[in-house]
Amino acid sequence: MSRIAFVNGRYVPHGQAVIHIEDRGYQFADGVYEVCEVREGHIVDERRHLERLSRSLGELRISPPMSPKALGFVLRETVRLNRVREGLLYLQVTRGVARREHAFPSAGTRPGLVVTARTRDRAKAETLAEAGIAVITLADNRWERVDIKTIALVPNVLARQAAREAGAGEAWFVDKEGFVTEGAASNAWIVTREGALVTRPAESGILRGITRTVVFEVAAASQLKVEERAFRVSEALEAREAFVTAATQIVMPVIKIDGTPVADGKPGAVSRALRARFHEAAEIGD
Ligand code: PLP
Repeated sequence: MSRIAFVNGRYVPHGQAVIHIEDRGYQFADGVYEVCEVREGHIVDERRHLERLSRSLGELRISPPMSPKALGFVLRETVRLNRVREGLLYLQVTRGVARREHAFPSAGTRPGLVVTARTRDRAKAETLAEAGIAVITLADNRWERVDIKTIALVPNVLARQAAREAGAGEAWFVDKEGFVTEGAASNAWIVTREGALVTRPAESGILRGITRTVVFEVAAASQLKVEERAFRVSEALEAREAFVTAATQIVMPVIKIDGTPVADGKPGAVSRALRARFHEAAEIGD
């Protein structure tokens, strides 16, 4: 079945989905995005993703491309037209098309909106989670506003590529003080020897992940203690478990950091349980 994309008001075959060369997303990475999991044909945590999108747009002073209700309809329609049961939904909003000039275009410029959906093999993702992933660490060289989910992702691209070249699945950024900030496309967590979950506060240095927020709820329902504080790579190496969270990975156990096994080098019980219970706390659309 051919894929369909939503591009600036129209549903078009994926292969013919194009945007203008002067779209500011293309020229300046002047835009924001969201990625949602699709499960059994339903969008997971749509409300939270749309709230974060609205915040990102506000921070960059980009107008919403349409009302939240209309956008929700487009998202669900894109999933439906692509017959996605298990997969991912991507949406991107840019400041629109205008003659190249750094400062904002005139107030009437319409934001650009692209929505795509694709199928993903859930069994493959589960197999990966059963094995866990390795991570590498590298210096965080991103700008300070990583709380905004912008499409300006070159440092993240380079970090993920470095991970791949090292045979790892993710790269953890480390700040100037030696504390882990987050992954190239995920939030970073450890489980201490005492069994507490530790993840960096969302106030600085990270994106407030939707999966992260939901994991707080799963942890509370599972009577697990959560400490929102920064941790160093050395503490992660002493931890009982480590894992990352993202809509694309849910809860993914980390079994190795810079080549050193975490604990016994196998996915830990807490990470596995959080993954298994995640969708009890997530909001799954109808
Ligand atoms: N941090 C970064 C830099 C990300 O790119 C992502 C997801 O893409 C996350 C964290 C996790 O966010 P979420 O759980 O909303 O997918």
